[in-house]
Amino acid sequence: MWACNLFIFALALGVALAGKARFDNYVVYRVVPTTQDQVDALRDIEDQPDGLNFWAGPTQPNRTVDVMVPPHKIADFEDMMNIINANYVVFIEDVQKLVDSERPSVEARSASFGWNDYYRIDQIYSWLEEVARTYPAASLIHAGRTFEGRQILGLKISYRNNNPGVFLEGGIHAREWIAPATLTFIINQLLTSTNTAIRNVAENFDWYIVPSANPDGYEFSHTNDRMWRKTRSPSNILCRGADPNRNWGFQWNTGGSSSLACSDTFHGSSAFSEIETRTLSEYITTIASKLKVYVSIHSYMQMLLLPYGFTRTRVSNYNSLLDIGQKSIASLASRYGTQYSVGNVVDLLYVASGSSVDWVMGVHGISNAFIYELRDTGRNGFVLPASEIIPTGQETLDALITLVTESRKTF
Ligand SMILES: [Zn+2]
Repeated sequence: MWACNLFIFALALGVALAGKARFDNYVVYRVVPTTQDQVDALRDIEDQPDGLNFWAGPTQPNRTVDVMVPPHKIADFEDMMNIINANYVVFIEDVQKLVDSERPSVEARSASFGWNDYYRIDQIYSWLEEVARTYPAASLIHAGRTFEGRQILGLKISYRNNNPGVFLEGGIHAREWIAPATLTFIINQLLTSTNTAIRNVAENFDWYIVPSANPDGYEFSHTNDRMWRKTRSPSNILCRGADPNRNWGFQWNTGGSSSLACSDTFHGSSAFSEIETRTLSEYITTIASKLKVYVSIHSYMQMLLLPYGFTRTRVSNYNSLLDIGQKSIASLASRYGTQYSVGNVVDLLYVASGSSVDWVMGVHGISNAFIYELRDTGRNGFVLPASEIIPTGQETLDALITLVTESRKTF
């Protein structure tokens, strides 16, 4: 018992002393399993990662898997891949180099909020508050609370009564920094742009925009661990956090999530065990009758995913969603040529239960529900350079204009 306590104390001390995690010479491998046995073997590794970090988990044969491997595990990892006979290539040679160049140099950083840099949660919240004070059409929304006592803040943009509602949720996975950055870009455009197409959607829909649905995790990804994905509540004596996009209370824990507390896809101890998902769901319930479109923004892999995630069975309006999705990604590509794929979660990835989108569709019947996986296709992964925020924001807004305009024809 003593030994155990001492061990845990030493471990906790080690974590505390370690400060901000570094990723010097961490390699991201892209593995392409071609058989179900290889997929299953990669799943076993993901369940007991032992220092490996899955940026894109195993899904099905011929779908790529991205794994970040620390330098002291490289030989073991390559041995394992050779044993299971899986093809792999080095996709990122040194993650720390990407992290070091993700933000502008210290001298080049602007003092005011903008879209050439990534910001801490308090800076995002100060900006939201300022926007709510500045623009009569904008008001702050308190969309939930977090384990560490933060608010989940968002912004409502409404130019007239009884517009159909669109909900944009971002950053539920902490490390996907491009999602909150894209959503603040879109807020700014909806309020300030003079472009006719933007004004048209800005003023004819009510927008509910939550840039960071996981503020504790987002802040931790800035201060301690750039690769943090989950919430920050204790999940057992050693590990923290549940995957907040596997924790929603519709078909919870019915596949594609982990019961292991240390896993990055841990579904939590029960549906809505996480205060973030529970309180955000309560907020959404209060406005659900107004919501016609729900979009959850993630990164990376350039995909537009359609629900459900929990089942292979297609939703009754699948053809309509696919049609809207195809038009949306065509609009997205028209600006910079950025190519997306569109399809069911289960077809493009694999079963994943407990997501926000499944819940809004399954519980509230919001039938126009979508998931965007933003830039890129893996050369930077989660560590997308801040210089790509504006182009990503522009093309994503192009995509959303088409998405809400086409969705409107269905209601
Ligand atoms: Zn995500």
